[in-house]
Amino acid sequence: MTRRESAATVSSLRFRDILGQRRVVEYLLTALRQQRLAHAYLFLGPPGVGKETTARALAAALNCQHPQDDGEACAECPSCRRLAAGNHPDFQVIAPTSEGRQPQIRIDQIRDFRRLTAYPPVEGGWRVVLIKPAEALNQAAVNALLKTLEEPPPQHLLALTAGVEDDLPPTVVSRCHKLAFTPLPTDLIVQALLKRGLGSSPAVLLAALSGGSLGRALALDPEDLLTQRRQVLTALQELPLGNTSGVLAWAADLAKKNQEVENFLLLAQLWYHDLLLCHVGADLRLLSHQDLTAELQAQSCQTGPDFCFARLAALGAAQRQWRANLNQELTLDVLGLSLQEGEFAS
Ligand SMILES: [Zn+2]
Repeated sequence: MTRRESAATVSSLRFRDILGQRRVVEYLLTALRQQRLAHAYLFLGPPGVGKETTARALAAALNCQHPQDDGEACAECPSCRRLAAGNHPDFQVIAPTSEGRQPQIRIDQIRDFRRLTAYPPVEGGWRVVLIKPAEALNQAAVNALLKTLEEPPPQHLLALTAGVEDDLPPTVVSRCHKLAFTPLPTDLIVQALLKRGLGSSPAVLLAALSGGSLGRALALDPEDLLTQRRQVLTALQELPLGNTSGVLAWAADLAKKNQEVENFLLLAQLWYHDLLLCHVGADLRLLSHQDLTAELQAQSCQTGPDFCFARLAALGAAQRQWRANLNQELTLDVLGLSLQEGEFAS
């Protein structure tokens, strides 16, 4: 987690600060006002769209000493301050203890939590426990958690986060109230980045690459991204000029930088998408690479829409195969060879 992301998360205690999730927010505020909250929620949706912030806002609202008429926390009382500082004794986060390819939440973490639930919340309000991501619960941890989900102690609320419910045991899903979080619209992410002092061009590019996740946009480094973009554009120009062994060497080199492949595919797709927008004379404010408008317009004179569509199809196919873990080196070989083909002609 970057410093910017961490600061943004901690400072957001109110539902009204949560971007783009109006349906979920209105539902929870209504349930708060009517005191009809479920004892366990399953927040479903992509990473970085406000699931953890929502759990924190719930904890704030439930423990606030001066809640507002609409159900929101005051953000100023001692309870709210402790929550904002990340040291409220009744807001707990259970997360994987180790990184790696398959991070896990272990049974002893759930057992510790269950022991805690034998006691009432320290400050007399509600104990809110965030389990993130629920996909990381191993089978033993799930079994231990089911007892709490079946017989929740009073003044306890659980919030579990997950991408999609299909990745969770049905026994967990059926015991939680599901709430669906949606990817954020690009313009909301741009505004959030501008508010954090980012320039307009990098903000637009980061938002376009974020996949609707503010968390992902904040985690991307704008300068690294601009460097990567230059490398991507150079590769797109040079691949058609080289021979097959050059293409295969490029693919092997890219495959080694596992984390950069996704960005390569996204940046290249945005480039051809921008070229198509230039072809149809669209509003230049719609471009993702706004700082390269002149370069885009020059290249759009050299390429036809069919060329862009073919490139987009090749990149889209590679992206699907890469994400599905299907023979990744071969995927990049095939992509390189298809990027080598084609004429710059309108
Ligand atoms: Zn308060």
